Amino acid sequence: MAANVSPVRPAPLDAQRVRADFPILATTVNGHPLVYLDSAASAQRPLQVLRAVEEYETHSHANVHRGVHALSQAATAAYEGARERVRRFINARSTREIIFVRGTTEGINLVAQAYARPRFKAGDEILITALEHHANIVPWQMVCEASGCSLRVAPINRRGELELEEFLKLLGPRTRLVAVAHVSNALGTVLPLKRIIEAAHAHGAVVLVDGAQAVPHAHVDVRALGADFYTFSSHKLYGPTGIGVLYGREELLASMPPWQGGGDMILTVSFEKTTYNELPWKFEAGTPNMSGAVGLAAAMDYVESLGLTAIAEHEQHLLGLATAELARLPDVEIIGTAAHKASVLSFTMKGVHPHDLGTILDAEGVAVRTGHHCAMPVMTFFGLPATARASFGCYNTEGDVASLVAALHKARGVFS
Ligand code: PMP
Repeated sequence: MAANVSPVRPAPLDAQRVRADFPILATTVNGHPLVYLDSAASAQRPLQVLRAVEEYETHSHANVHRGVHALSQAATAAYEGARERVRRFINARSTREIIFVRGTTEGINLVAQAYARPRFKAGDEILITALEHHANIVPWQMVCEASGCSLRVAPINRRGELELEEFLKLLGPRTRLVAVAHVSNALGTVLPLKRIIEAAHAHGAVVLVDGAQAVPHAHVDVRALGADFYTFSSHKLYGPTGIGVLYGREELLASMPPWQGGGDMILTVSFEKTTYNELPWKFEAGTPNMSGAVGLAAAMDYVESLGLTAIAEHEQHLLGLATAELARLPDVEIIGTAAHKASVLSFTMKGVHPHDLGTILDAEGVAVRTGHHCAMPVMTFFGLPATARASFGCYNTEGDVASLVAALHKARGVFS
């Protein structure tokens, strides 16, 4: 019989302690302590990541894979070790399924060019949703232009939720690929991925998930999800820029041609015939971003040391608090009120253009993003040119929410 123990709960996040890991948070902006509410665009890096990168650059750097000398072997071990770290982080079956890319954008483009473009033809359909980031729209439009296949778009409702019934109706025998965000960067909506993936698979479609906004906020298990492709960026996960991951099921990756040619992706080259390297290197032409991979691995260690559940609970608390506070401001409208959201809060203030609002908040040291958030169709759907967006990470506090609200009151004063 199982011992009668209470379930293990991660310790709640001590955000003040976490903040000490992020030296940049001690910055002052326009005479005010920085209130960083733009982690959805790019998260800050903890010392643990900065030091791992410095350690690699200081002691282990050389080119990978091609050298017998000690430093080259150290660099290769660091780089391939980072790949194994990623595999564990998302619970992929094999490191052959982990391709290092520049970021989410490149991960999606890789699948578009190496999976979709060579095999799709007129009559085939790619299904996306109306809340996608441009990175999960434009590469598919390019495939459609090149191959003659069509793009279908599943609608959202006024809360910013996917209309699941409509999505299911758009799935059919022509659907070859479904490409969806796990979490919307403009609205915060968390999509019902398991339902989407099961339904797509039932129609024989392959599913790509844009996980850019999900991986920092939830434990992602690609095998449990059943995703065929899952891609994300390091810089939103407290890691360096210029590196990200494309996970692909081995069977699919093995069936795809390489998408870029050059060093590292080959086994043999002659003018008559070139043979390609094994997975995952077949998709990594040229010298890769080793220090980025090392930093990403350190970022994964870091978030797991805090506990992804603890991070998510902390952020949900802040999101709930900020939502309640902003809802009390009569001239503020929250854009994106889905029942299931991650830590993104988009809003507008009556009579104030979001860019002006962003500038006034910046004068108070409060960093929010303003604009279309690379999701112009979402803005069009809501009839808006832009929104202001506050987003929360592991280092944000209730004090940050209070600073946002105070700065919004100031903004109203300026414009009334
Ligand atoms: N998808 C989503 C949902 C995003 O939020 C972003 C980044 N804003 C991207 C894709 C693109 O990520 P990157 O610029 O790191 O390639």
